[in-house]
Amino acid sequence: MSNNENDELSEDLLNDTGNLLSQEIPTGVDRRTFLMRSAVVGATAVMTGRVVSAQERTERSTAAPPLAPELNVVQKGKGPVLTTVDEFYKVGPGPSSSHTIGPMRITYDFYQRATKLPADKLAKATALKVHLYGSLSATGKGHGTERAALAGLVGKEPATVDPAFLDGLRDKPDQVFPMKLGSATFDVSLKDIIYDATKGDFKHPNTMTAKLMAGNEVLLEQEYYSVGGGFIEWKGYTPPKKNPPKYPFATMKELRAHADNNKLSIAKVILANEMSIAGRTEAEVYAFVDKIINAMTATVRSGLKMPENDVLPGPIKLHSKAATVYKRAMDDSYQADRGIGALSAYALAASEENGRGHLVITAPTGGSAGVMPALVYGLIENRKVPLEKVRDGMLAAAAIGYLCKHHATLSAAEGGCQAEIGVASSMAAALVATANDAESRVVENAAESALEHHLGMTCDPVAGYVQVPCIERCAFGAVKAWTAYAIASNEIASRHRVDFDATVQALAQTAKEMNSKYKETSEAGLALSVVLC
Ligand code: SF4
Repeated sequence: MSNNENDELSEDLLNDTGNLLSQEIPTGVDRRTFLMRSAVVGATAVMTGRVVSAQERTERSTAAPPLAPELNVVQKGKGPVLTTVDEFYKVGPGPSSSHTIGPMRITYDFYQRATKLPADKLAKATALKVHLYGSLSATGKGHGTERAALAGLVGKEPATVDPAFLDGLRDKPDQVFPMKLGSATFDVSLKDIIYDATKGDFKHPNTMTAKLMAGNEVLLEQEYYSVGGGFIEWKGYTPPKKNPPKYPFATMKELRAHADNNKLSIAKVILANEMSIAGRTEAEVYAFVDKIINAMTATVRSGLKMPENDVLPGPIKLHSKAATVYKRAMDDSYQADRGIGALSAYALAASEENGRGHLVITAPTGGSAGVMPALVYGLIENRKVPLEKVRDGMLAAAAIGYLCKHHATLSAAEGGCQAEIGVASSMAAALVATANDAESRVVENAAESALEHHLGMTCDPVAGYVQVPCIERCAFGAVKAWTAYAIASNEIASRHRVDFDATVQALAQTAKEMNSKYKETSEAGLALSVVLC
């Protein structure tokens, strides 16, 4: 450092402490956060002997800390969020969006590709083979991944498949289905779905390959990834081209700036973006959201109707408890206890439906499919909140899920349970806040709080079945969402210390550094300590 630079530094930073801290508090960051960050930036400048302009200090004080560059779960340079509600909320069979809905979509996609091969090639086809790797292989049996994959191969789609078809495959696993591809005909069965290596250098923990064979010759092969929430990608995947959003945002800070600058709620910003990205009318967007709301209330209702002595499929022999918890909670003397009991019962009901392999809604995943429906049901059935407000709540909740997907992950195989129940709880907090007309800062704070208090939560399903701890975990996620809203709506919003974007970064970082045994492998945690006899 030259003497001149030294002089400048001493003048700038040490002689005038006013320059250490910017006097203007920028929007998008609370005063305390800003002053602390600004002081750290100033102090660092003193220690390193580097001159930092007031503008740079302000920029660095409002920015969230950078993530490790090797972070796989962070997909960089993607620009604004372009996900839409119909991609995000998916109806399909439980128990796991990444292990049932994703694989079913993958094999359905492969079948469609195979049909497009030239007729002379198709004529040689003798078999279809699907190989499951990584977490799909490690825990797929407990999730019924092989049944979902076979259903997709024979032309079933997640939203319309009859759960009885999948139950039939479970009860009669030797069934054989005739397959016709061009002029070729051959049979497919569960034997064609192969549980392959659980460990290896896979591009994604949920990797699959699908092959069309002619004897030993491979006519067509594709590697796929079930990346969480029922989303699928494949080798060479590029995101589909979409229209630009009306209000481009890649962070909560930008989303809230659009809302605040245009005097809109977060939900209305999302609505405008849905319309511009997907070229839909407002009525079309809301019609889809209504379909999802109806499916969510239906799943709670059918779960509550299940007999109290019902036993869920699988080796755990877990008794259904939603109806019992609901009935007994209604006898509690205190209204607050009744409320918490009922909300828990709603989440248990929807989550048990997932455990049965019945149709559920990814919000954001199958394992977490009890959280959002519990709040939706409670708002509609108990609080009698008007449908329009619940609709907007669903859009605000979607925004939370989009941001978590954009910057971190929705896949337990990548990030543990924080990426499933944590994100679901965060979405549900935004739903409740929005349905209660909370301002955008409160919506952010509620979502942040719910996500923050799931950070680090591991995924360790006992025997690979999405039942223990998953079903009760949905109830806790729902109650935590309500707690997050209760705190956010009663605290002084501007004093909320942690911003949502920083917590999403923490989610990504924690996902990256979590021991892989705790990422949906059933090799650790409860999966190890709970002994089935
Ligand atoms: S522990 Fe959590 S993330 Fe893992 S399967 Fe269960 S709900 Fe999903």
